[in-house]
Amino acid sequence: MTTASLATDRVIAYFSMEIALDPRMPTYAGGLGVLAGDTIRAAADLRVPLVGVSLLYRQGYFSQQLDHTGLQHEEPTTWPVDRFTHELPARVAVTIEGRRVALRAWRYTVTGVGGGAVQVYLLDSDLPDNARPDRGLTAALYGGDARCRLAQEIVLGMGGVLMLRALGYRHIRRFHMNEGHASLLTLALLDEQAERTGRWIIGDEEVARVRQQCVFTTHTPVPAGHDEFSMSLVTQVLGRPEIAAMPQVFCANGQLNLTTVGLNLSCYVNAVARRHGETSRSLLNSHTIDAVTNGIHAATWTCPAFQTLYDQFIPGWRQDNSALRHAMAIPLTDIRQAHGEAKQQLLDVVLRQTGVVMDPSVLTIGFARRVAAYKRATLLFQDLDRLTGIARTAGPFQVIYAGKAHPNDPGAKQLIQHIFQAIDTLKPAIRVVYLANYEWTVAQLLTAGCDVWLNTPLRPLEASGTSGMKAAVNGVPSLSILDGWWVEGHVEGVTGWSIGDSAPVRDDAQQRLTDSASLYDKLQQVVLPLYYQNPTALTQIMRQAIAFNGSHFNTHRMLHDYVLRAYFR
Ligand SMILES: *Cc1c(COP(=O)(O)O)cnc(C)c1O
Repeated sequence: MTTASLATDRVIAYFSMEIALDPRMPTYAGGLGVLAGDTIRAAADLRVPLVGVSLLYRQGYFSQQLDHTGLQHEEPTTWPVDRFTHELPARVAVTIEGRRVALRAWRYTVTGVGGGAVQVYLLDSDLPDNARPDRGLTAALYGGDARCRLAQEIVLGMGGVLMLRALGYRHIRRFHMNEGHASLLTLALLDEQAERTGRWIIGDEEVARVRQQCVFTTHTPVPAGHDEFSMSLVTQVLGRPEIAAMPQVFCANGQLNLTTVGLNLSCYVNAVARRHGETSRSLLNSHTIDAVTNGIHAATWTCPAFQTLYDQFIPGWRQDNSALRHAMAIPLTDIRQAHGEAKQQLLDVVLRQTGVVMDPSVLTIGFARRVAAYKRATLLFQDLDRLTGIARTAGPFQVIYAGKAHPNDPGAKQLIQHIFQAIDTLKPAIRVVYLANYEWTVAQLLTAGCDVWLNTPLRPLEASGTSGMKAAVNGVPSLSILDGWWVEGHVEGVTGWSIGDSAPVRDDAQQRLTDSASLYDKLQQVVLPLYYQNPTALTQIMRQAIAFNGSHFNTHRMLHDYVLRAYFR
């Protein structure tokens, strides 16, 4: 069998609502899209026969601007589609609200370290044949209302399957639904099965066959994070009477629930960290949910200074990220120097963007993520008096924040304003800045250039988290709540530090006090003394973060797990 026929016979189709493919292409919003991109980059490195499917998003997500009070303004973004992607002649069509919506695809090729290639097809409804409103369906990511979201999910799932077939992908071994957004692809597969058997009505046999074709990854333990649509909206936008006829397959609480669809129509389901697996099994009442802990693509997230070091000391790390365990052989002075370069780069950007001069000799704490209530971005500011007391007695520190709030989340937008108020109150004792427009390049700078990576989610709501993994591969230890990946990555004083214990949380307000007290204690008694009094011990921890966590929490290891457990089982 030639490699080419192997690739076409055994291909994995990876469907994701967002994929971060290039820093200049705003086709992602945050962690989910970055993970999808890192997965595809690993597949290209490892020559796993995978193709990606997503939407084109000519207007992307949004560009964040913050006024002097921290109020977020959203600016549309655009990008030169044909500079990065290649239009394909194939056309397919889906039915939305009874109208025929034609689709085309733009191809983006991801090339791996050894020259392996993974194709990604970005679906686009902006065709002259389509009605005006339908032409804008694939323009903006997470921009519209429920009707628009459902229409986009029809395009992604059903349009994606039709497009792959039109492009000649006949023998697809597994369809991977990266989160419930993609699970309408099962409808297109059910249609294929019904056509094969010549039946008019979809039944149990078709469902059983489609299950063998699909795998599903759930990404959030927050109940509101699971897409659902009312039956009246479904009837109006999607049609498909079998959804109402088979509620046990498609519905939860009388609504079309895309997580339910993913669970019922997959032969393998996983959560994205061990702890998230436990949470998902009880939340979704299913014993069969496995866990594959997320990773990051090391070469993508390692800063230039550490790339040079790894190339020198760890041959083969780009081909196999597990080689990073050999970071233990890198001299501490080299680690310190590479980190110093990354830190200076970050502080230069802070100065350019905010006008604030930060001191490279001062402990720098980073906190950057999508702004959502459960991530508790303001936990550090629970007790401002105690915080300034710590800076006065244990040593100075400075803090860099970043993160976008979803346009329709007023609570999250207010959180950014609270941080701005704390910034004012803490002046001049503690310097804190908020960098606008957190995206790929800002994340690269921040995760490499801070000294400590802070994460403070409300347990157990952080499914995995991946920014701490990016920090680890740059020798930046985490100071984090024991949730998500950190339950697995944390060894106290070896790879970083914990905040609080790992028991499930009962009372939210009480927990804030307990967790912030624990955070202050660690900062005062452990992190600051290490930084100012024992830099050698701290550099050892930095090196251990690379060797233990960089070598494991990467998408090379993660994709091996998917290949063995989900794709080629
Ligand atoms: C890595 C990344 C995220 C996800 O980080 P979490 O730790 O999971 O919150 C979000 N946004 C961007 C731009 C990223 O690079």
